[in-house]
Amino acid sequence: MVNEEKEYVNYTEMVTSIMEARSMSSPPLAYTHTYGCQGNVADGEIINGMLSEMGFRFTDDMQKADFILFNTCAVREHAEDRVFGNVGALKHIKRKNPNTVIALCGCMVQQEHIAEKIRRSYPHVDLVFGTHVIKHFPKLLFETLTGGQRVFEISGSDGTIAENLPLRRDGTVKAWLPIMYGCNNFCSYCVVPYVRGRERSRRSSVLIKEAENIIKAGYKEITLLGQNVNSYGANCEGELNFSELIRKMDEIEGDFLIRFMTSHPKDCTEELIDTIAQCKHTAHHLHLPFQAGSNRILREMNRKYTIERYIEIVEAARRAIPDLSITSDVIVGFPGETYEEFSETLDVIRRVKFTSLYTFIYSAREGTAAAKMDDPIPYEEKSAWLRELLSVQEEIAAERTALMVGQVVRVLVEGETKSGDLSCRTSNNLIVEVKGDLSLVGSFIYAEITEALNWILRGKIADM
Ligand code: SAH
Ligand code: SF4
Repeated sequence: MVNEEKEYVNYTEMVTSIMEARSMSSPPLAYTHTYGCQGNVADGEIINGMLSEMGFRFTDDMQKADFILFNTCAVREHAEDRVFGNVGALKHIKRKNPNTVIALCGCMVQQEHIAEKIRRSYPHVDLVFGTHVIKHFPKLLFETLTGGQRVFEISGSDGTIAENLPLRRDGTVKAWLPIMYGCNNFCSYCVVPYVRGRERSRRSSVLIKEAENIIKAGYKEITLLGQNVNSYGANCEGELNFSELIRKMDEIEGDFLIRFMTSHPKDCTEELIDTIAQCKHTAHHLHLPFQAGSNRILREMNRKYTIERYIEIVEAARRAIPDLSITSDVIVGFPGETYEEFSETLDVIRRVKFTSLYTFIYSAREGTAAAKMDDPIPYEEKSAWLRELLSVQEEIAAERTALMVGQVVRVLVEGETKSGDLSCRTSNNLIVEVKGDLSLVGSFIYAEITEALNWILRGKIADM
């Protein structure tokens, strides 16, 4: 650890002087863009922290950047296609400014076949590094700048977690706090266990300290992140479990919300439900992906719960927390799914009445079990199923939000809308827009709901 820290500081200093000597601007400018989930956003904040320590400033204009980095996502093919399109377009920038350093990192490039494609077909990319070597980023950038050749580093996880890395958070109101990395579940469609390695939990003592610092710094919301937060602490002798971790964080002084994602239904316990119900800071929101309504499809997906069990959890959670908002992820068109089986997904949506859904058409991922399964339903047909699903959900969301009109709710003011209003969120994850002064961003206020527009509510500030 001591040596690693020394290595980190040394390379940080060396990169600074090299970049200053060769860059077009002083201080050198970095453009970074993160695709995908909040876990990736949290990684991006570490990378930006390192760039900041290396003396970089940041720009939104790629044309002006000395260093361009895409932090990529691999969860669906569409995400990868977008990255390839955007990386292709960088060729022109490199032609104009050959000194620009172009780098790719994240889940997509952790896959050997993708790294190979970049090696062969995208010669203007200088540096490629995977998800397990972020702590070595300054060293890898140093090697790229001095070695005279492209650098590719996508080795696997060594099972450790690097702590004490710098961080440049994107926002001032909401903070991400990864509590664990990796995944052990191997859902048959999913690439995450292959690109993120096995589950590793961060020490609770480190996390509680970090949560305290986040609140002290003025943030009003912490989202605890992990692919399956419910298994936090498993296989770590003497460590807290997830509910215990939340309870410890709940003891921190201050007015703030604790959110978390993602909860896997197979590990969603009564203890967790009680914890959400009893803690004063926990948001009344549970993101609980069910993926599919048919038990046969759930088995094929290797999800390890039945839809009956899922409904049981939902009902228990609603009994304990009557205003709980439940959201979910759904995959449409898993290999071999029939229209009848898809209809069971619609039945679950009608029955549970989710606040909102994240919906995906199945995308085959190289190396996963599902990619080898027969997939006879054409994409167009799956798209029609998805449209049907969305219209069912739209009606439900409209019904739910209409019930809110006239209510006064406590919201956190998160930022500004495009039209200059305040964008706020309730504890149970509904978005409320109100007119008000921007100085209210970052505070909790009360809003009276005056109008419901599908999934967004409009309101006015209420005195309490
Ligand atoms: N760990 C989380 C999910 C992380 S991936 C969980 O288990 O709930 C986020 C979502 O992307 C998944 O819930 C799933 O709905 C979707 N997804 C993952 N792989 C996919 C694939 N190959 N095709 C389509 N959707 C996928
Ligand atoms: Fe992927 Fe399943 Fe792990 Fe979620 S739990 S990341 S869907 S393998």
